[in-house]
Amino acid sequence: MKQDHIATDRDAPIFDPDTWNLTGRQVALATIARDMGQDKMHIRAEKYDRDATFPTENFRDFAQNGLLGIAIPREYGGLGADFKTYMLTAAEIGRYCGATALAFNMHVCSCLWSGVLLDTLDYDTGQKQEHARKRAVHYARILEHGKIYAQPFSEGGAAAAGKKAFATTALRTGGGWVVNGRKIFASLSGHADFYGALCTELDAPDARMHRANTMYLAIPADADGVDVEGAWDPLGMRGTVSRTLIFRDVFVPDSAQLMPRGIYFQAARRWPHMFMTLTPAYVGLAQAAYDFTVRYLRGEMPGTPPVKRRMYATKQIAVAQMRVMLEQTMALWFQAISEARPNPSQDSLLRAWAAQYTVMENANELARTAIRTCGGQSMLRSLHLERIYRDSRCGSLMLPWTAELCLDMLGRGTLYRPGETDD
Ligand SMILES: Cc1cc2nc3c(=O)[nH]c(=O)nc-3n(C[C@H](O)[C@H](O)[C@H](O)COP(=O)(O)OP(=O)(O)OC[C@H]3O[C@@H](n4cnc5c(N)ncnc54)[C@H](O)[C@@H]3O)c2cc1C
Repeated sequence: MKQDHIATDRDAPIFDPDTWNLTGRQVALATIARDMGQDKMHIRAEKYDRDATFPTENFRDFAQNGLLGIAIPREYGGLGADFKTYMLTAAEIGRYCGATALAFNMHVCSCLWSGVLLDTLDYDTGQKQEHARKRAVHYARILEHGKIYAQPFSEGGAAAAGKKAFATTALRTGGGWVVNGRKIFASLSGHADFYGALCTELDAPDARMHRANTMYLAIPADADGVDVEGAWDPLGMRGTVSRTLIFRDVFVPDSAQLMPRGIYFQAARRWPHMFMTLTPAYVGLAQAAYDFTVRYLRGEMPGTPPVKRRMYATKQIAVAQMRVMLEQTMALWFQAISEARPNPSQDSLLRAWAAQYTVMENANELARTAIRTCGGQSMLRSLHLERIYRDSRCGSLMLPWTAELCLDMLGRGTLYRPGETDD
């Protein structure tokens, strides 16, 4: 299936439509992403990485080709992608620019989680109607004005791992909330128009903090009291520009809600696959490491002399091992994203953690093997393999499902039934 890209200079889909039984919409959107990736993102990626600057041109193109509204339901004018369709499309983006795919994910989740995901949960009809009115405002900003949303959750404490209430607070006042707090690793900082922040709602300044009171609020980047702080010079995913955000007495009105009160807590429990949305960027990177190796060993890598190295048995074995690892990664990931739904079985949840772990660890393992196999010249900065290697290292660190936490949850979830203890 992946031989096609060798015969032509156009890449074959990561997931062949017939083999993987994709829908027409999945094929159409993944094709838009892959075409843009090959024609534009791939070329621009080097600059974003070198300068650690935001992929503004890519987001402008997303606004033009509709991908900015990929997960906005069709009745609001978006492309109406469901979870799986978005994941398959985003993997094609990650193949050409990991940082763009990761930043894009933060934007898309603001729509996906407030859209199709919420529509599969049961909650009060009145709340549903109110939410429909509110999200229409967010969606119109994106579709009509090209506005970009970020998703800053992390605070450097246990909240982003889902273990504690968020320290960022939203104090209820007449007609809205006053937000105070600090978010680390806020991708798109300084570039998003709205920061979709998770905060703990308080009805009094000294009220107790409860995770069930998590609010998901879209905070305008130009609101009084919003600041971006700190330098950004990381190992990888440099184009995400994930700096620190400060909220000091920022007032937001009722309409800022991206989810009705109390619903985020329910969504995180009942729709756990929502946390897999960080993986497609790394599925794309895994594919890119493999693509690079095949081209390089065949002497077909643009910008390098046409020297073949494929005749050595050691190279053939290494590529075979990479292929095995890529197939394992793709198969498990595809199965896990196909199972995403409310209230998944315990078995399905264990598989989602196994898939998350596999993608995040294997993407970097494939990049590591690619460098070892292709050799010294392949890791020069004039080529993109060393960027894939650095970008792919970041996947295992993403909360709430870091590689470590996936193993932790898998181990416990396998050995203990819900509610079981040894006491
Ligand atoms: C390139 C990049 C972009 C990012 N973009 C965003 C973004 O847009 N929005 C956002 O919200 N976050 C973002 N993050 C942050 C990311 O999701 C993590 O929150 C962050 O990397 C955690 O930092 P840390 O490892 O220093 O955290 P720490 O809290 O110090 O955790 C360190 C490690 O300890 C383990 N650990 C943490 N908590 C527990 C626990 N309770 N029990 C057991 N083990 C635990 C985990 O394995 C974790 O990796 C981004 C990160 C990177 C690298």
